[in-house]
Amino acid sequence: MNDPIIHVLVAPTTFSRSPRNLLSNYVVIAKTETTGYPTRNAKVFAAYLPITLSTTWSYATSLALQYLDNSLPAPLIALPFPDTGCNVVSPILPSSTCSLYTDGSFHHATDISPPSMACAWLALDDDEFILESSSSSLPSCFSSALRSEISAVLLGLKALSPGSSVTIATDCAQLISLWARLKLMRQPNYLLWLSIRHLLDSSNLRVKLIKVPAHSDDALNARVDNLAQAAHLSSQPTFSPMALYYVPCLLTFNSLPIDMNIRHFLRSIGDALVTVSQIKGFASHNNGHPEFWIFRIKLLLDMLPTLTTLQQRKPYLYSPDWLCPQCNTAPEDINHLWICPYILPELNPCLTHRKEVTKFRDDCITAFSSSRTLPDSFDEEFSALDCWNYITPSASCLWLTRGLLPTHLTDFLKKYFPLSVIYKVISPLLNDFQLELYGEIWLCRNVLFHAWEESQGISASSKSKTKDSPSSHSSIISPHHHNSSLA
Ligand SMILES: [Zn+2]
Repeated sequence: MNDPIIHVLVAPTTFSRSPRNLLSNYVVIAKTETTGYPTRNAKVFAAYLPITLSTTWSYATSLALQYLDNSLPAPLIALPFPDTGCNVVSPILPSSTCSLYTDGSFHHATDISPPSMACAWLALDDDEFILESSSSSLPSCFSSALRSEISAVLLGLKALSPGSSVTIATDCAQLISLWARLKLMRQPNYLLWLSIRHLLDSSNLRVKLIKVPAHSDDALNARVDNLAQAAHLSSQPTFSPMALYYVPCLLTFNSLPIDMNIRHFLRSIGDALVTVSQIKGFASHNNGHPEFWIFRIKLLLDMLPTLTTLQQRKPYLYSPDWLCPQCNTAPEDINHLWICPYILPELNPCLTHRKEVTKFRDDCITAFSSSRTLPDSFDEEFSALDCWNYITPSASCLWLTRGLLPTHLTDFLKKYFPLSVIYKVISPLLNDFQLELYGEIWLCRNVLFHAWEESQGISASSKSKTKDSPSSHSSIISPHHHNSSLA
């Protein structure tokens, strides 16, 4: 499939080391460079709210379960590949299929066994003749009864021929009520929902859900229930958690899909990092600053408080027609941070960005060249890749700056190295690159920006007020204060 796929990856080996490294080593890959894609999905996640830190254990538990489970096949250990999630099951049902009975089954963890999920479906034609049935145990990440039910529907839909029109019979009322809802992206299991939606669209499926009573004498429902129950007893899942998905956008962490509210996820990981650092009494070190880590995440998700963001968040303080305070030539959005032609040369973000991209590129060449013998043409071909075009700068260069590895970069390198080596080499260099952007551009810009805010009468106390409080409207946006540029 040609859809863009995004993975946030962390080299699995870092799991066994300090948790502090977990997210500081993330790498993001754009599967294709369809313009416009990542913003669309990133916006779903980026609520322009600060990441506050609190703790949950559910994700860590899932992670540990999967990591320790050696019975699962290679994809869990290796880095995930975008294609593994798609077309695991090709359509096997004839277009005469007119109904599916689906059921999930969930066993809670006990003292002696981990949680277990299984699901099954039955396909019938319009004479209620059973065409096919299928059952399987499921990978146990984010295990819940609802997840097993959604998975049953997803696997059933995957087996349908394109253009099919079916009725799905389920005894799960929650599934039916969620099916009708739009805002599923913030729900747990959103990746499963997204997969279903994507499948409906791409295979042109028409689906209606109906409720059948649980534990009744509906013979077909009883039968699909038995199938799902029996699947618990079958061997371990034969596919990885990744294989279930059929989505245009996928965040993974330690090769596990992040199938939960992404902000909650980041929050829990962030808190884990902070907690660990407190326990160990860490002094900060170069790459381990929580502020830098938060910068990387916010940069990735377009959550940095640029003027454009602030204008959306607090239009009563930041007039929508203000331009970048440093150069007064363009709106200050996330990409403008790197191309701002600020007048003072030693503080010119554009020149700094160019210098750092060049250094990042050259460091990559040095690192890859020292890994193995490469043809003479390697340096030149590598340097010619679009993502190093810092002059324009190209869209892929801007994405790379945010932490996304463009496909053309990984595809080129795959000619010489396995993906695991590529990530291992690029990850720390990307980290260093972004650390320079953080120190040389973002922190400097913040100092200037705060000075500018003060010159506009925007104080810390006015920022903390809501727009309903009495004093915030009056003097902030007045004509003679209008965007007096620092430049
Ligand atoms: Zn500017």
